[in-house]
Amino acid sequence: MRLSKYLVPTLREDPAEAEIVSHRLMLRAGMIRRTAAGIYSYLPLGLRALRKVEGIVRTEMDRAGALEVFLPVLSPAELWRETGRWDVYGKELMRVRDRHDREFCLGPTHEEVITDLVRRDVRSWRQFPVNLYQIQTKFRDEIRPRFGLMRGREFGMKDAYSFDRDEAGAEESYRAMFAAYTRIFERCGLRFKAVEADSGQIGGSFSHEFMVLADTGEDAVVTCTACGYAANLEKAQVAAPGPAAANVALPFTRVATPAKRTVEEVTAFLGLGADRLVKTLLFDAGGEVIAVLVRGDHQVNETKLKNHLGGREVTPATPAQVEKATGAPVGFAGPVGLTGVTIHADRHVEALANFVVGGNQADTHLVDVCHGRDFAVAAWADLKSAEPGDPCPKCGMPLEIVRGIEVGHVFKLGTKYTQAMQATYLDEQGKEQVSIMGCYGIGTGRTVAASIEQNNDADGIVWPLPLAPFPVHLVTLSETDAAVRSEAQRLVADLEARGIEVLWDDREERPGVKFKDADLLGMPLRVVIGGKSLARGVGELRVRRTGEKSEAPLAALAETVARLLATLG
Ligand code: ATP
Ligand code: MG
Repeated sequence: MRLSKYLVPTLREDPAEAEIVSHRLMLRAGMIRRTAAGIYSYLPLGLRALRKVEGIVRTEMDRAGALEVFLPVLSPAELWRETGRWDVYGKELMRVRDRHDREFCLGPTHEEVITDLVRRDVRSWRQFPVNLYQIQTKFRDEIRPRFGLMRGREFGMKDAYSFDRDEAGAEESYRAMFAAYTRIFERCGLRFKAVEADSGQIGGSFSHEFMVLADTGEDAVVTCTACGYAANLEKAQVAAPGPAAANVALPFTRVATPAKRTVEEVTAFLGLGADRLVKTLLFDAGGEVIAVLVRGDHQVNETKLKNHLGGREVTPATPAQVEKATGAPVGFAGPVGLTGVTIHADRHVEALANFVVGGNQADTHLVDVCHGRDFAVAAWADLKSAEPGDPCPKCGMPLEIVRGIEVGHVFKLGTKYTQAMQATYLDEQGKEQVSIMGCYGIGTGRTVAASIEQNNDADGIVWPLPLAPFPVHLVTLSETDAAVRSEAQRLVADLEARGIEVLWDDREERPGVKFKDADLLGMPLRVVIGGKSLARGVGELRVRRTGEKSEAPLAALAETVARLLATLG
């Protein structure tokens, strides 16, 4: 491809709209342009990188036995009503009406559409397992689209859906997809981690997210370097602390804490550490007000709380609910004498004795309170958010928290959709059974962006060979020199005959401009042919990642390029 005939509008300056490096570089390298908030157009170079990701995804999905389909973008509301998601999906679901006033949405994901397809055409046990996938445009009206392709409203996704006859089959399908995802991200040249993710824990469901490690990642990943445990912060467990402290036989006392509501205010006033105070937080759990106790220096993890409560939706209680339940203004809730409210407590509270709690009375706290003696806990559970240094749930060593970009998600769904939509089949006895489902997504555009987050330097992108729009960037100097041009043409033909794609900068630009652009665009190998090198009968090579330079005789140039690329890939 000749750059003079290609559309690669590079930018010298950093665009103001871009906050993270991948977004900035994709704009500067002329890969993408913003059409509207969270909606991007791919220019030729960006599309090439996307196609590389799609190619790897497609090969590995096919290899894993999945079958490619192509589902519509518009999906009818009726299907979404069958599962109840038309009402619960919320504002991310882009709803539209046709000329007959019929309701549709722009598919944010395709469980309903695929389940409808499968329930009609997969009717016998003999047809299982089935795994269908597509590479399609999704639409989600994200509240905060940002970071370019990273969190768009319209974006590319590979989504796959497996259907099995039984649990064992569903687990096998899940394992196959987990393995395929591992191969896909390895082949993309990414540094990533598969982490346990929240799945709501209903009906034998489980889930992993594939996280590309990058400081700009929107997700927090809890990891243990000692044993390899890794989980999304939403789900990460924390080992229970040591045995419960023995109660000291001091009775509790009531102390005045005028206008001291927050943990900081109360502990500063009493001259105690936050780990000696127990916070009493009230939640609305599906209509019932409950109390949750955590240490003053800990945070309640609402996802863990929700799972602990069997999947009930939890939201912080309103001030009115707090005042009604405790008889005191917000800031003074406590477990002692709290009637009619079930108390759930984090395991770290179990290890405490003689702690401070709110007094259920304005401007009052209780000091030297002990659980069991002064109040009863209905259930102990791991309810705190994991923090760096917390003990690993698997091996007890200190946990770390790193940032990650979620590029893929595998989910064993169970029968959530197949039950609701009656996707049944006839088993060997001719009995009707509901099939068991899994779903598996990869953000294709996000994967391109994530790769750039991990592969760049001050001069621009540093493509890993598998995703590079072109493996070779040929720069010719002195375009008017016929010998240079014909040598370049010969090299391009030779490389293309070997299946190596070349981006040839044949523009009449100064060498400095060409070299800067070559660094910005970031193809793995740069080859220079100019009047001077030609006179010496050589071409010059430079590896983008290492800056390593070499020369090769013109006659052996294509051969050398192929050999060098093999060492890069
Ligand atoms: P996130 O938590 O980042 O919003 P999600 O859990 O909503 O992701 P899934 O529904 O599992 O994502 O979608 C599968 C994949 O699609 C994700 O792993 C991610 O790679 C990609 N993806 C999701 N939302 C977006 C988006 N707004 N822009 C680009 N890619 C996205
Ligand atoms: Mg999302």
